[in-house]
Amino acid sequence: MPPLREVIARHGLSASKALGQNFLLDENLLDRIAAIPASLGDQHVLEVGPGPGGLTRALLRAGASVTAVEMDPRCLPALAEVEAAFPGKLKVIEGDALKIAPASLFDGPYHIVANLPYNVGTALFIGWLSGETWPPQWASLTLMFQEEVARRIIAEPDTSAYGRLAVLAQWRSTAKLAMKVHRSAFTPAPKVMSAIVHVTPAEAPEGVSMRVLERVTEAAFGQRRKMLRQSLKGVPGALEALENLGIDAQRRAETLSVAEFVSIAKVLTKPKG
Ligand code: SAM
Repeated sequence: MPPLREVIARHGLSASKALGQNFLLDENLLDRIAAIPASLGDQHVLEVGPGPGGLTRALLRAGASVTAVEMDPRCLPALAEVEAAFPGKLKVIEGDALKIAPASLFDGPYHIVANLPYNVGTALFIGWLSGETWPPQWASLTLMFQEEVARRIIAEPDTSAYGRLAVLAQWRSTAKLAMKVHRSAFTPAPKVMSAIVHVTPAEAPEGVSMRVLERVTEAAFGQRRKMLRQSLKGVPGALEALENLGIDAQRRAETLSVAEFVSIAKVLTKPKG
């Protein structure tokens, strides 16, 4: 396949800021990213935002069958060339990944791998974490974020990075920082550093509704400097739950472990009566 720089020049793919376009062109780096979800031989992969197709090619080289969702129609001719080089292994869908349910694209398990557009990355991530049925159909997520967002996803209690995103990412998944990526690896280079997070589903605690956990963490971290007795006041039953669980209402949200948030959500999930 021709070098990515040539593909970008030939198809006039000047980077669009609105679409969060920062392309990766180093094939070695792309191969290392494609190796993060373990062996992709004969596995199905959903790629969001293939752009000119650098990561797509690396995933295909790793043996995956790729379904890629791209919003920018200018990229489609470049992706058609990749499709021709890997017959039957790449399917490109033009559209907005926020509006496409990935489960509608696959019959069985699949991995999600993406150099995400930063403006929609967190929304997509929360959507993938939010299904009521668990384990989800996806087997793993390998996602590029701004390093600051990656740190919030893997954060531990009692740190300034710890918040809602960490609890939602960790309560029934394992989230790890897989690789830091220097800003100079992108064309054009973004202002900040990036990092790849690798997430795999873990066993879900029984009897906990994702919606309830979202509500509790939203309230608790919405006023993260306040004590829980203040921040959780508006969540019905939450203060009684703290008392029953022996969690001091004078603590602040960032001191609670993921397990403690889960235990509060579990009490509130229980059917009344
Ligand atoms: N995968 C390529 C790479 O690694 O070089 C491009 C990554 S670039 C950071 C993000 C890509 O996502 C762009 O190609 C952009 O057009 C696309 N994109 C932006 N918003 C999107 C959306 N809502 N749905 C699907 N693709 C989107």
